[in-house]
Amino acid sequence: MEDLIILGSGAAGLTAAIYSARAGLKPLLLDGIQPGGQLTTTTEVENYPGFPDGVDGTDLMNRMRAQAEKFGARFQFNVLAKAELTSQPLALTLDDGSVLKTRSLIIATGATAKYLGLPNEQKLIGRGVSACATCDGAFYRNVPVAVVGGGDTAMEEASFLTRFASTVHLIHRRDEFRASKIMAQRVLKNPKINVIWNTVIEDVLDVSKNEVTGLKLRNVKTNETSSLDVKAFFAAIGHQPNTAPFVGQLEMDAKGYLIANNTKTRIPGVFAAGDVQDSAYRQAVTAAGTGCMAALEVERFLEAQEAT
Ligand code: NDP
Repeated sequence: MEDLIILGSGAAGLTAAIYSARAGLKPLLLDGIQPGGQLTTTTEVENYPGFPDGVDGTDLMNRMRAQAEKFGARFQFNVLAKAELTSQPLALTLDDGSVLKTRSLIIATGATAKYLGLPNEQKLIGRGVSACATCDGAFYRNVPVAVVGGGDTAMEEASFLTRFASTVHLIHRRDEFRASKIMAQRVLKNPKINVIWNTVIEDVLDVSKNEVTGLKLRNVKTNETSSLDVKAFFAAIGHQPNTAPFVGQLEMDAKGYLIANNTKTRIPGVFAAGDVQDSAYRQAVTAAGTGCMAALEVERFLEAQEAT
């Protein structure tokens, strides 16, 4: 029986591991589908406090991991297949069929950015393809970039990118935005943003150069194809929280994000941290912050249990 299992090895999970390990809880952390989390899909991280010269995303995650290990956290390369959270102890079935029992659980399984699923897209992630303007926008100064999407995220990403890029092409598949009026108006008024309506992206160019050089576009009304020179392409079509194993057991919002109050879910002993419970901020530092909060809540929970 474990005292604490942490699901997910991004900034939230690893911070929870550092705090709970330092508190002597010897947490067991399951890495999940993307060890290191979303930061490992970016290159340089320039906005994590304490690194004035920036830090490589994978390097930052490795440092957090080493810090957690130093204090006694244990790691296991497994993915959760099924969770039974309705009775104590909590039971987790892993992808290899084994079952772990634990008194407390921190869910830090994150969210996965949705990409378009284009032939060259995945190969060029980190080389001009990104789903995070805040993370990668500053690398594209005075060059044209593109954003795809018509929701608030796309508006926010496009507006943010005008700080750096020479032009931001905002590509949307319809002729009206889904975004809130105020954010859409801001975009439409911005002279650095060129909206390309009724258009889908057919592929990212050019994988042979190992970096983004442009996009292949198709107008859905005329079926005409064209190419657009850009140095970067930002997917802003939403995120998918990784909450499938918890459906029916934990409260979720309409998009599937866990609902937590100061990281506490409605099940005693089950806590949520990082992007899995945050569709608004989605930053490494906010994920780390809630990872810390969840670890402190676990300490309180276990202490209270021992006292009874
Ligand atoms: P949304 O689901 O609101 O919008 C996704 C957009 O991407 C839509 O315009 C959709 O097009 C487009 N899209 C989806 N799939 C594809 C595809 N395969 N190809 C091309 N386009 C595609 O997601 P967001 O991330 O924008 O927003 C999520 C939530 O977060 C919303 O509730 C939003 O209001 C909120 N949010 C709020 C912010 C704020 O207030 N500051 C900032 C960011 C998000 P279509 O419209 O045709 O369906």
